[in-house]
Amino acid sequence: MNGQTAVNGQKALKVLVIEDEESYRDSLRVLLGREGFVVTLAATGLDGVRAFERFGADVVLLDLMLPGLSGAGVFRAIRERSDVPIIMVTAKDDQVDKIIGLELGADDYVTKPYSGRELVARIRAVLRRTTPQPAEVEEEPQRLTVSGLTLDPERLTLTRDGATTSLPPKEFALLYLLAANAGRVLTRQVIIDRVWGIDYYGDTKTLDVHIKRIRNRVEDEPSEPTLITTVRGVGYTLERTS
Ligand code: CA
Repeated sequence: MNGQTAVNGQKALKVLVIEDEESYRDSLRVLLGREGFVVTLAATGLDGVRAFERFGADVVLLDLMLPGLSGAGVFRAIRERSDVPIIMVTAKDDQVDKIIGLELGADDYVTKPYSGRELVARIRAVLRRTTPQPAEVEEEPQRLTVSGLTLDPERLTLTRDGATTSLPPKEFALLYLLAANAGRVLTRQVIIDRVWGIDYYGDTKTLDVHIKRIRNRVEDEPSEPTLITTVRGVGYTLERTS
């Protein structure tokens, strides 16, 4: 059992290996160390639980067949303390092992003998799934061209047939929303929420008025719209023509 600190001041990810076969422990120490992980090794289930309590881990590689405290027992002991991802190591083609692992709810399984490359790939995949990702950055709205309309969100302009006009903010937001979802039906409620939010007073005809104004700008025949079509009782679609 050995807990090491990260090298070069970088926070290395910690792998706890609980494995009674020395040859596997040795090769995992070398393999995972080379991949930049901080490796803690435990040869028995009990040592494994203690190592987890003492050093923690970002991922646990747990052999199911262990002398003394079994892999299943270790699994439950660690689960009582933490949601750390646990990869079960099972014997080749042992269906019983697989079923036990499934029932326990392991995050992934590898079957002995496994290739080092596969194991590292599994570890990284589990870590990707379970490590919280940074919050999604709200993207700046992009200039958009669809169905002959070009919308510039920085200048709130519409360019159509070579002519550019400025739009009032809500008209622009509405047209941009429809254009960004061209070909899809947007319900009245979705449009209202996205364009007006809490500023909308539902009993007014604000949305209909804005749709009419936009049609006057983009339709060849505003009274018979072909670009921004009404889906009766549902909402509106900006048809995708290009
Ligand atoms: Ca074993």
